[in-house]
Amino acid sequence: MVLDDLGSSLRGTLDKLRGKSRISEEDVDEIVKEIQRSLLQADVDVSLVMDLSDSIKERSLEEEPPGGTSARDHVLRIVYEELVGLVGDSTEIPLESQTIMLAGLQGSGKTTTAAKMAWWFSKKGLRPAVIQTDTFRPGAYDQAKQMADRAEVEFYGDPDADDPVQIARDGLEATADADVHIVDTAGRHALEDDLISEIEEIESVVEPDRSLLVLDAAIGQGAKDQARQFDDSIGIDGVAITKLDGTAKGGGALTAVDETGSTIAFLGSGETVQDIERFEPDSFISRLLG
Ligand code: GDP
Repeated sequence: MVLDDLGSSLRGTLDKLRGKSRISEEDVDEIVKEIQRSLLQADVDVSLVMDLSDSIKERSLEEEPPGGTSARDHVLRIVYEELVGLVGDSTEIPLESQTIMLAGLQGSGKTTTAAKMAWWFSKKGLRPAVIQTDTFRPGAYDQAKQMADRAEVEFYGDPDADDPVQIARDGLEATADADVHIVDTAGRHALEDDLISEIEEIESVVEPDRSLLVLDAAIGQGAKDQARQFDDSIGIDGVAITKLDGTAKGGGALTAVDETGSTIAFLGSGETVQDIERFEPDSFISRLLG
């Protein structure tokens, strides 16, 4: 990771260490404060920030820099390693046949993400299909179909049906020729019991290879409860963060990652089907600190 990616104020603080061979507690405190400020501003949970701070402080002061390493490079390496530990690796998404189910609250960006992921898989040479099971939100069918058309991928939905479990079953059958099945589910405004029981039923029919939780980048404290509930009901293997084209930096999603023991799979940054990228730790760290 190049130092440029760390954000200008942190870089400035680290640069003060230039020429020093030993690092003082004061130096480390200043660096840690800088990182804390950025991470908290990016909505990273306080306790995660505190854990990270403690590790950076402890390691910077206790670990001996390898021979020839300056104090600045030593701390920089530790800061980087700890940040990578915080954001985690990218969720493994093999380029092979699979079924992926999306879960999340209404408005989080599931339908959009389903189409984006389908587009992404099609660009990787696979044949994806989107199955829309959202019978709850008016307009969900039309929106999903329109986006799947734009992504030029197969689509299944039934605007006249009202049983999402049946739609999921029929959808898998109707798109049996596809390699990758992406099953979009209905959200709710809040975590309601009927949402959880519905998604559990869909999950038992779909038997997904992986289930992704879709979270709006602006999510703050709410991430924890959502992640817990969805993980308990269907098991969350990865997170997709949407709306990163806005001002929110998506640090709240790290709470969900921590809570579910999962990783981040995809990032969404716009309303069109191409606005998707795989999560990549270095650039996400830069975004958090920038
Ligand atoms: P769902 O209820 O979870 O299926 O959410 P939708 O996919 O319908 O998304 C809700 C709104 O957020 C829609 O207006 C989308 O166009 C918008 N949206 C989704 N993802 C993004 C994104 O990455 N960036 C922006 N700017 N808007 C997004």
